[in-house]
Amino acid sequence: MFHSALERVIHDVVTPSALAVDREGRFPSEAVTALGAAGILGLTVATEHGGVGKGLAEAAQVVERLARACGSTAMVACMHYSGVAVLNATAPASVLREVAAGRHLSTLAFSEQGSRSHFWAPLSSARNDGGNVILDAEKSWITSASHATAYVWSSRPLGGEGASTLWLVPRDAPGLSVRGPFDGLGLRGNDASPVRAQGVCVPGSARLGDDGKGFDLMMGVVLPTFNVLNAAASVGHCEAAVSATATHATATRHEEAGTSLADLPTIRANIARMRSRTDMAATLLGDTLAAMAVGRPDTMLRVLEVKAVASEAAIDVTMLAMRTCGGAAYRKEGGVERHFRDAQAASVMGPTTDVLYDFIGKATCGLPLF
Ligand SMILES: Cc1cc2nc3c(=O)[nH]c(=O)nc-3n(C[C@H](O)[C@H](O)[C@H](O)COP(=O)(O)OP(=O)(O)OC[C@H]3O[C@@H](n4cnc5c(N)ncnc54)[C@H](O)[C@@H]3O)c2cc1C
Repeated sequence: MFHSALERVIHDVVTPSALAVDREGRFPSEAVTALGAAGILGLTVATEHGGVGKGLAEAAQVVERLARACGSTAMVACMHYSGVAVLNATAPASVLREVAAGRHLSTLAFSEQGSRSHFWAPLSSARNDGGNVILDAEKSWITSASHATAYVWSSRPLGGEGASTLWLVPRDAPGLSVRGPFDGLGLRGNDASPVRAQGVCVPGSARLGDDGKGFDLMMGVVLPTFNVLNAAASVGHCEAAVSATATHATATRHEEAGTSLADLPTIRANIARMRSRTDMAATLLGDTLAAMAVGRPDTMLRVLEVKAVASEAAIDVTMLAMRTCGGAAYRKEGGVERHFRDAQAASVMGPTTDVLYDFIGKATCGLPLF
């Protein structure tokens, strides 16, 4: 059922607004509202809380389909499902019911000015104040910063052992200031802005999981979810680029010769390379989900590989689309250059491609990741 609801939202809302979202750098509010109303934001929440009760594989389908139409909306959904994965594991039923009803947009507030892409090592503080907790931080990037309902937030532990503790921090909590607007190369509508926290007070009950156990949630829950969904977005960019290039190549003619672009072997070879890289990334994504579903011994390796492989595929495939479509790709209305710009972000989103290759190398050599 969710497939037809999703396709309706993409057709009626996401696709028509994608160009303006990118051009004006505005958050895709209409799309997020429509996804909430259609139950898509509550896709991964259990049915007992009013959600659709689906898992990561279905969330990946949503993100991949959204990315074909609008990269910004896809990344907002990617970060939402990543945050919801933590909420599913740790939050009270009242929060999950709001997510299921489409009234709670989640995101991750992990990256910080000090630790940068090393999200597993926050420097920001949390201290006890009676029954409350005071948070201070310089968060460097939060997708949906001005639009999320609440952030899944990392800090140093209150007092427990470990690298971090996670919190549920309402976006409108006094002491939070969003330092937007976001003006980036790509994903221009995703509102990925820095956020400063000065003396933000949350109740002790806002803690997600045990004090000091944030690292375990980051590695056990967030990393697999985020890597798979980020890879799904990259596959979506690849699919959009292949489709736009094939359509352009078959429809565009050199009138003097009476031939189409697709009649040129070089053009067909480029499209073949794009198709093959896309299918390799999509196949790895499918295999990663299959490994996770049965707890295969190579699951962690696949989880590390899938984001790196898919993000590099998206960069290469969209670059080849730019070359293959020629001058037409430079025009904004065609959408090819938008996917090319949007595809760049995944490789620098933590864990970055460089960090993932380091981890994959360590895993292959039998060395500890940290
Ligand atoms: C569009 C967008 C949306 C984002 N949304 C969110 C969000 O919602 N929540 C959130 O928490 N964060 C978010 N981020 C932040 C993201 O996850 C990274 O933290 C950020 O992109 C890292 O940028 P940096 O320049 O600070 O990285 P740096 O750590 O300064 O990295 C710079 C370069 O060094 C390389 N490098 C760094 N460490 C290593 C290492 N150990 N080994 C090898 N190479 C290394 C990197 O690969 C990179 O090439 C977002 C980023 C973008 C671009």
